[in-house]
Amino acid sequence: MKPSKFTYYEPTSVEQAVLMLADVAEHDGRILAGGQTLVPAMALRFAQPAYLIDINGIASLQELRQRQGALEIGACVRHAAFHTPVVDGPLGRLLSTVVQHIAHLPIRNRGTFCGSLANADPSSEWCLVSVTLGATLQLRSQAAARDVQAQDFFLGYMTTALAADEMLVSARLPLLPAHTHFGFEEVSRRAGDFAQAVALAVVDVQGDRLSNVRLGLGGVESTVRRLHHAEGVLEGQVPTRALIDEAARIAADNVEPLDTTDEGLHYRRHLTATVVRRSLAQACASVGSFHSQG
Ligand SMILES: Cc1cc2nc3c(=O)[nH]c(=O)nc-3n(C[C@H](O)[C@H](O)[C@H](O)COP(=O)(O)OP(=O)(O)OC[C@H]3O[C@@H](n4cnc5c(N)ncnc54)[C@H](O)[C@@H]3O)c2cc1C
Repeated sequence: MKPSKFTYYEPTSVEQAVLMLADVAEHDGRILAGGQTLVPAMALRFAQPAYLIDINGIASLQELRQRQGALEIGACVRHAAFHTPVVDGPLGRLLSTVVQHIAHLPIRNRGTFCGSLANADPSSEWCLVSVTLGATLQLRSQAAARDVQAQDFFLGYMTTALAADEMLVSARLPLLPAHTHFGFEEVSRRAGDFAQAVALAVVDVQGDRLSNVRLGLGGVESTVRRLHHAEGVLEGQVPTRALIDEAARIAADNVEPLDTTDEGLHYRRHLTATVVRRSLAQACASVGSFHSQG
């Protein structure tokens, strides 16, 4: 099948792009970033936008830069940019670990970090990273600019706080200090498929104790989110296998899977416990007393 007819715009600045968006938003005008979700959806006529605003020609959106304690990721930065660490320390390692799980190389070469956030798939690895690390997202329309915290951006299944006339200009991820450790675990049917369950655990380790515990889950519920109940069990504690099992059990008990059949519920809760347990075990691997438990 071929896409239905659309008018194509190529702005060369963010100002031009939001001006065009203000004009066409009411007529299903859409931003085109990497096109790895939108173009197949158009080819299948699941999406039939009347206007496409292709932001790939805007030089400032290609930028990936470190400033004021954060990594700022412009709207056209591709997934593949993160194959090798883009910053020193845990954040660079975390991003280069996670990116390997996103789709396949040709898709990673075109698809963008911010396009994934705008698309808000509950299985998206970048949505999970943004919520778990507390990203700040910069939104812009012709009339105004605003910052939205990632946790307030994802409103429901593939639904975000973006208004029809707004574009996501960049995402800012806080840099992580050297004593921050992370674990990432994903289950999908085949390599490159969307996750059935995916967890990211991020902890600060001082002595043998954990602090600033951040535990995110994707792929199970309608949006990615932090698992605050499970985090609470670990905060300030010396990690043990039993404590991690307890956090995994609490996580599984507190999720509301999208799949509500009896088998689906049971399976997704089981996967939740598995990815949470494994991600936490990875994050705690450097804690001497935990490591020596084998
Ligand atoms: C076979 C296959 C497997 C995949 N597997 C995975 C996977 O495992 N994990 C994963 O996370 N993704 C996966 N994807 C999706 C891929 O990562 C996409 O690149 C991503 O979801 C969308 O990014 P994009 O830049 O391609 O956006 P586009 O396709 O260009 O746009 C997607 C949507 O977001 C909107 N949009 C994009 N950028 C902006 C912006 N800056 N401001 C406002 N709105 C915007 C568009 O209007 C559109 O509605 C897969 C895709 C395919 C085809």
